Amino acid sequence: MRLILLGPPGSGKGTQAQRLIHRYGIVQLSTGEMLRAAVAAGTPIGLKAKDIMASGGLVPDEIVVSIISDRIDQPDARKGFILDGFPRTVPQAEALDELLKKKHMKLDAVVELRVNESALLERVERRAAETRGRGEEVRIDDTPEVLIKRLASYRQLTEPLIHYYSERRKLLTVDGMMTIEHVTREINRILTAIGAVEPQHAPKEAAKATAGSRSKPVAKAVKAAKRPVKAARKAAKAAARGAKKPVRKGAIAKGGKSPKKVTKKRAKR
Ligand code: AMP
Repeated sequence: MRLILLGPPGSGKGTQAQRLIHRYGIVQLSTGEMLRAAVAAGTPIGLKAKDIMASGGLVPDEIVVSIISDRIDQPDARKGFILDGFPRTVPQAEALDELLKKKHMKLDAVVELRVNESALLERVERRAAETRGRGEEVRIDDTPEVLIKRLASYRQLTEPLIHYYSERRKLLTVDGMMTIEHVTREINRILTAIGAVEPQHAPKEAAKATAGSRSKPVAKAVKAAKRPVKAARKAAKAAARGAKKPVRKGAIAKGGKSPKKVTKKRAKR
């Protein structure tokens, strides 16, 4: 399974990536983590990235693209990966398309964690306090001033990726304001619905809920996900063809309902 996690700083990408890698046995490829390691090790890339990162700016595309390209080739990424913090610009997304094509790899989905911006500052402050509490060093860019800059850069340069992947029928949007547990469940559910998850990983309760409440084509895909993988993929494709709306978007939007509405309904149960 190959995924991209998309969302502003503090939206929970790192937390959700950790949960997904444990569940599916894939690796998390975080450009932020790799760059921080390069800075700590004082490598030539680290030296170039250090000041840019400290100020909340973006490291040049060619640097991050080459880091990711090399990392994807490592044996531990063969089973699949989650890209966290990459791509961050449309040129990076285009470069990723190109390099995946060259490597004969296919992207399964892009999971967007949609969050309320006003909550982000609080989340990042909490993250810094928790890190301090564990006696660890706080990230130099986890300050309110730098966060404001990182958010502006997200809005200007990264948000266009939502349109980019939506047009390519890859986008799945999840309400990132739910609890960590709920967000994880929702991600697992939609990955099952599109047939990206192998049957042994499919969450039973999620598949049931989806089959009962989703549009016919998506429910069919979910049912099929319980069958052997090949058959499930085939049915998911057929469902996508039959759906009036793009099936991936429909898998979340649920016939026009916003993720928030879906959440509220579920919270009442
Ligand atoms: P993150 O841990 O994803 O919040 O990234 C921390 C910092 O690393 C960012 O604020 C950027 O300065 C840099 N960075 C991480 N990923 C990228 C990327 N894909 N493109 C450019 N800069 C990046």
